[in-house]
Amino acid sequence: MNTTDSRGGASALYHTFGCKLNFAETSTLAHMLEERGVTRAMPGEDPDFVVVNTCSVTEVADRKCRQTIRSYHRRYPSAAILVTGCYAQLKCEEAASLPGVALVAGSNQKLQIADFVTHRIEHGAEAVPQVMHTASRDFREFAPSCSKGDRTRYFLKVQDGCDYWCTYCTIPAARGRSRSGTIEQLVGQAREAAAQGGKEIVITGVNIGDFGKGRSDTFFDLIKALDKVEGIDRYRISSIEPNLLTDEIIDWCAGSRAFMPHFHIPLQCGSDRVLELMRRHYDTALFREKIERIRKAIPDAFIGVDLIVGARGETEELFAESKAFVESLPISRLHVFPYSERPGTRALAIDHAVSAQEKQRRDHEMLAVSEEKLRGFCRKYVGALRPVLVEHTVSEQGMMSGFTDNYLRVHIPADQSLANKIVMCRLDSLDPDTLEFNGSLAPNA
Ligand code: SF4
Repeated sequence: MNTTDSRGGASALYHTFGCKLNFAETSTLAHMLEERGVTRAMPGEDPDFVVVNTCSVTEVADRKCRQTIRSYHRRYPSAAILVTGCYAQLKCEEAASLPGVALVAGSNQKLQIADFVTHRIEHGAEAVPQVMHTASRDFREFAPSCSKGDRTRYFLKVQDGCDYWCTYCTIPAARGRSRSGTIEQLVGQAREAAAQGGKEIVITGVNIGDFGKGRSDTFFDLIKALDKVEGIDRYRISSIEPNLLTDEIIDWCAGSRAFMPHFHIPLQCGSDRVLELMRRHYDTALFREKIERIRKAIPDAFIGVDLIVGARGETEELFAESKAFVESLPISRLHVFPYSERPGTRALAIDHAVSAQEKQRRDHEMLAVSEEKLRGFCRKYVGALRPVLVEHTVSEQGMMSGFTDNYLRVHIPADQSLANKIVMCRLDSLDPDTLEFNGSLAPNA
């Protein structure tokens, strides 16, 4: 095995599928390996290790993971492929049988990959089994992770696992029971991000509203503590279950120092019958109440909503009910996912499976609703002044971009001195195709 790169040490290439949590964890692992002298492989360089952090949210996700592993083996036949994440956890044997795979590590053993790599570098490939199954179901520990998404935004993992067992979902099996970091530890990580120049933190987890379960502290206590961290000017809550988004949290966010007017809430279906079949923890009445509460307390809030179409039990009539419900909500955007059958889930016992063709039709219908919502939301801000956190990248057209507090993408003429700064911008015009703004610095910005 080639354990030296052009810079003299071993190198690794990382490929991440799925959620923000996976990206945060890959970044933490890469950082750990860098501290042990394993650099990120440069473009064109043959890596010694390929880390594939997988997702298993749909059958398509499983297939993509398999294809990616095979293609890395074809491209880098001498590299040791290390597979982790939800697919590795749920389909451990299958992952281990793929060509080039040297390690399959379960969801809660991601960071042990660093020890495997160090051992392999020190003792060579022969000293350790070619395939080490570590995908056990020991989920007691919380593995902390705070990753630098780009140079302005950090992803702070505050919680992992889920105890809800919605009938269509494999995440509780893949990531285990709900567990979280301590407030002290997470505030420490936020301070570190601020010391590195981070301005914005996205709070991530599997079911973050469940933070502190089994202890006396809550998600509300956590956000109040994070809000006090000097240097972090913006927080976003990545996604929170509607039943855990309390009125107390909404009202507090409205007056907080750094929590942005931005919510992402999973609805999954706008029919009470289907929500019951999914074993979700709320009904449409509660969902509407939460959305209306946000709109009243924070009128400018961007509200993104997740929706599954074509779930088992969603008849034509119930789909129509769901569509009418989401159309009636004052939200900003839908994130639509066609339902995917997952082996081992209780949803498989529900009658009335929706055909692939019909799922696609419903997907298109809901995407049209989403576009209309987003267009309507964006139009309200043409000509408005909003604070934008400017990112570093300069486009070929000589523009830089960033998000407003309420999550609208704005492009402004490039000026490197603005990178990683929050500046007041005028949202001059809305691109009708991308639904992004062209803006300019507000006078006296
Ligand atoms: S809340 Fe439901 S959908 Fe979300 S991770 Fe838990 S079981 Fe899965």
